Amino acid sequence: MFDELHEECGVFGCYHIPDAASMTYYGLHSLQHRGQEASGIAAEHDGEITVLKGRGLTVDVFRKPELASLEGVNAIGHVRYSTAGGAEAANIQPIVSHSSRLGDVAVAHNGQIVNEKELRRELEEKGAIFQGTSDSEVILHLIRMEEGTLEERVKKAAARLEGAFAVLVEGEGKLFAFRDTHGLRPLSTARFQDGWMVSSETCAFEVMGIYDSETVPAGGFCTFEDGILRRSSYREADAPRVCAMEYIYFARPDSVIEDVNVHKFRKETGRILATGDDVQADVVIGVPDSSLSAAIGYSEASGLPFETGLVKNRYVGRTFIQPTQEMRDRGVRMKLSPVKEAVEGKSVIMIDDSIVRGTTSRRIVRLLREAGAREIHVRIASPVLKLPCFYGVDISTKEELIGHRMTVEEIREYLEADSLRFMTPEQLRFAAGTAGLCTACFDGSYCTDLYSYSEVLSN
Ligand code: SF4
Repeated sequence: MFDELHEECGVFGCYHIPDAASMTYYGLHSLQHRGQEASGIAAEHDGEITVLKGRGLTVDVFRKPELASLEGVNAIGHVRYSTAGGAEAANIQPIVSHSSRLGDVAVAHNGQIVNEKELRRELEEKGAIFQGTSDSEVILHLIRMEEGTLEERVKKAAARLEGAFAVLVEGEGKLFAFRDTHGLRPLSTARFQDGWMVSSETCAFEVMGIYDSETVPAGGFCTFEDGILRRSSYREADAPRVCAMEYIYFARPDSVIEDVNVHKFRKETGRILATGDDVQADVVIGVPDSSLSAAIGYSEASGLPFETGLVKNRYVGRTFIQPTQEMRDRGVRMKLSPVKEAVEGKSVIMIDDSIVRGTTSRRIVRLLREAGAREIHVRIASPVLKLPCFYGVDISTKEELIGHRMTVEEIREYLEADSLRFMTPEQLRFAAGTAGLCTACFDGSYCTDLYSYSEVLSN
C-alpha cells in the first residue's frame, strides 16, 4: 500500500525536562509519519500554558524564536492527520482551556472515541460550548465537568471514554498520560535525565539516545508529579488488542509496541507468506517503505534474492493535485520508480503491506510490467481489508475497500497481477506473538461497543 491509509495522530510529552518545548519538537519530528497536516506544542510555565500550533509539518510550524517563547519544563505535543473532526484550525491540537475554576489545562489525543457523539450531547446539555469538532475537546470538557483534584478529574474523564485513545493532559505543573482499556493505540514512557518522556512510539525516544522504555499498559494511567512517575489504572484492562495496522503499516520499523519490534513483526509476516508459496520466481521486491521488512522476511524464508525493485521519491508532497487519470498515473510515477535492471525479464514477487482501494497497487503492477517484469506475483503482508475502522484510521466506509467489493480472484484480475495471496487473520496474530491484536477491519471482530458507528456496518 502506498499513501492510501492514514493514521490519525501522534503524541509526545516531556515532564521535568529543561527546554521541554524544544525536546517535544524533536519528539514530534520523529512521529511525523503519524500525521503531516498539523502540528502543535503546549508548554507550561508557572501554571500558565502557552500553545503554538498550525497547519503543516513540524519543521514548518515551528521556528527557533517561536520555540524559545514556549518556556517551561513540561510540554505536550501533537502531530495530526485530520479525518474525524475535520481539518479546521479549532481542531488542531493540543487543545487548551484557560478557566478560573480549573486553571490552564491542555489535552493532546491520538485515536478515536466511539462514544464521542453521546458524550458531546450530554456535555452540551450541561452547558458545555464547543469550539471545534475534535474528540480532544470532549475530553477537556469532561475534565472540566468532573469534581475533585485534577488527577481525579482526569481519571474520571478517562473512565467515561470508549474506543481507541492515547491521551496526554498537562496542568498544575503535572502531566497525565493514559491509554484505552484494549491498548488499541500505542503509548510508552521513558526516563530522560531528571524527568520523563511519553510518546506514541518508541522511535521518538531513540532519537534522544534513550533505548529503555516502558509500555503504558491498556487501561493504564501515569501521573507525573513532584518529579516522579506514579503508575496506576483508571479502569480494568480488557483483552489487549493493539491495532494490527500499527505493526503492518503505520509505526516506524524501529519502534517497539508491546515488546514486539515493528520490523521483526513485518519480517515475520513475510516469512509466513513465503511458507508453502510454490510460485516459481526470480526475485523478491517490496513496495517502499513499509513493505521492505516483509519482503526481506519473504526473501530469507524462500531463499529468493531480495532486490530493490522500486525506489521512492521522498520529496513529493502529499497534497499533489491529481484531477485526471493521466495526472494520477503520473503522480504514482513521481512517487515511485521501478528499477528496470532489477526486474526486466524476471518473474517478480512483489510484497505490499495491504490493499485499500487497489488503484495504487494496480498502477505499481503496471509500472513493473512497463519496466519489463515477465511475471508479477503480488503477496500482501496482511489479510483482505474488508471493513471500516472506528478506532482512528481513515477507513470510514466498506464501499471504499476493494476487498469488500471483490473476491481475491477479482482483485487479482483488477490488479493485472499473475497471482495474488493474502495472509489470514490467524497468521497475522501468530506474527504478533505475545501482543494481542485488533483485526476488526479484516474480520469484523470489533472489541468495543460501536455506539452510533454501528449504523455504518448495517448500511
Ligand atoms: S479496525 Fe483495523 S485499522 Fe482499526 S484499530 Fe482495528 S486493526 Fe487498526
